[in-house]
Amino acid sequence: MSMPGLLRVSPIVVLTLFFYFTILWPLPPQNECSIAAETKQSSGSTADAAPESPPYLPIYRIPLRIHIGKSEREISDYRSILNEINDIWRSQAGICFKMDVVKHDRPLGRGIDVWFMPDLKEFGDDNGYFRGDHEIYVRDTPILGPSEHPAHSPTARTTAHELGHALGLHHGQDSDDNLMRSKTYGWHLSKDEIKTTRKAATAKALQDTSPLRCGAPVINLD
Ligand SMILES: [Zn+2]
Repeated sequence: MSMPGLLRVSPIVVLTLFFYFTILWPLPPQNECSIAAETKQSSGSTADAAPESPPYLPIYRIPLRIHIGKSEREISDYRSILNEINDIWRSQAGICFKMDVVKHDRPLGRGIDVWFMPDLKEFGDDNGYFRGDHEIYVRDTPILGPSEHPAHSPTARTTAHELGHALGLHHGQDSDDNLMRSKTYGWHLSKDEIKTTRKAATAKALQDTSPLRCGAPVINLD
């Protein structure tokens, strides 16, 4: 082919290559599991601001048993609540909780246990109560004050807050948006809080740090 011939076809070749490399080739990866996609749709403002890619690696996966034997909520309520808890922690600190949901009261040997119940009258009638890794209690529907960037579910927010205590955090009352502020919808963690919790997580997490997500909760209500 003569040079003028080459010049005539080259725009088509260039356009074809451009189309292939810019549109077809960099196909976005599929979601690694359904949990994030569901959270994004169901957890409102929390997920809207939460990046899909975790900001820290590796992801620390901490076993968490959810006890709902005393709860008066429907089991169907818990899907979005538990997804939002993981969304709050994974999107900011690269920590997520590998959950199993049970009706019995037997605690995990290693990990963290949370009990949900209609009220916490025996614990000062608070929204949530932390006494140790295997003694965390959360009211079915906590009563929270507003924040500028609120979590969707008060139950998810309060549970995420109590898990913050389990990962070594104290209260931080400087902003309504902070997860560790008492009794607000805030869910944000500061850089120092992230550093503290990631350090604490290394002692509680599963040894295999290769998975990027904790996956959907395992529900076993026998
Ligand atoms: Zn607290």
